[in-house]
Amino acid sequence: MITVTKTFFPPLNEYESQLKRVWKNEWITNRGELVIELEHKLKEYLKLDNILITTNGTIPLQIALKLLGNGGEVITTPFSYIATSSSIVWEGCIPIFVDIHPEYLTIDEAKIESAINERTTAILATHVFGNPCNIESIQKIASKYNLKVIYDAAHCFGVEYNQISIFEYGDISTCSFHATKIFHTGEGGAIISNNKELSHKCFYSHNFGHNGPLDFHGLGINGKISELQAAMGLAVFPYINAILEDRKRIGETYNSLINFNTISKLRIRENTKWNYSYYPVILPSEEKLLKTIEILGTKNVIPRRYFYPSLNTIKYLGSQKMAISESISKRIICLPMYYNLSEKDISMISEVLNMVNL
Ligand SMILES: *Cc1c(COP(=O)(O)O)cnc(C)c1O
Repeated sequence: MITVTKTFFPPLNEYESQLKRVWKNEWITNRGELVIELEHKLKEYLKLDNILITTNGTIPLQIALKLLGNGGEVITTPFSYIATSSSIVWEGCIPIFVDIHPEYLTIDEAKIESAINERTTAILATHVFGNPCNIESIQKIASKYNLKVIYDAAHCFGVEYNQISIFEYGDISTCSFHATKIFHTGEGGAIISNNKELSHKCFYSHNFGHNGPLDFHGLGINGKISELQAAMGLAVFPYINAILEDRKRIGETYNSLINFNTISKLRIRENTKWNYSYYPVILPSEEKLLKTIEILGTKNVIPRRYFYPSLNTIKYLGSQKMAISESISKRIICLPMYYNLSEKDISMISEVLNMVNL
């Protein structure tokens, strides 16, 4: 079966040797040796001043919204994974959707200003599929209206924009290390802020607000990652360059085999070093999409409708119309993309795509 993604499994003996350290230390959580080591390695690899790793990629969104959303209106994208919008509601804020750009698929910065009012506190935008938002314009708008900027950078491991890590941008950026993401710890994530005071607050927030065993800085929650998760991260880490290079090979092979007459692909923002985190294609109609999925299914290929439905159409998220996001989400699929996917399979998938979408 060829699925949209497959978790990268490091050699079992390498995972075991990380686990042996945990047994030797007799220390399973509360920022043990492996968690600290993984943070150091990631900081160095991504050239960051700070990164706080967490138990998943959703809790960083919740912490960011708790610290910066202030129970107000948060401007956000309808084209993302549900966690982006659900975290806003979960933290008692109100999501205000702004439609996306039809080619970059990120929030359309030209439409943000008209959604701002006196209740707006923050912008939470997703660098969807690892493609950067228009960071400069969003920062300009945020500065003008005194809003905070949070980036859901769940897909962005290894992405650079203007030669620095994409995680450097915004007041807070978040990442996911879920098993389906490029770099993973099984379940895991990270929160990054360049603002010293804010990164300090994130740190205390993710550990119940503890300031030592008997004192508390303020309100907190449990976002800690365990040594068992860090062990997986440390076992995957040595393969990260190979994983990124292999995805590039797959992406470039699809680029050369797919016939882009009626099919369109994601437009990557200028000045981006992309990570090929997904291979989305936009088909001419939902009918063609369903037909494509059906025929791929007969060949045991299971693509995914990422992202469907458009988040603004989900009941508890309100009823704002988002024409572009709704149209794209009905017609977009992500093609299989994982370590070691064979050239033969890539050609077979591309042929089906070309045949159905003539
Ligand atoms: C995966 C993902 C998340 C959530 O991350 P988890 O680690 O699964 O909690 C958030 N936002 C986006 C856009 C994602 O794709």
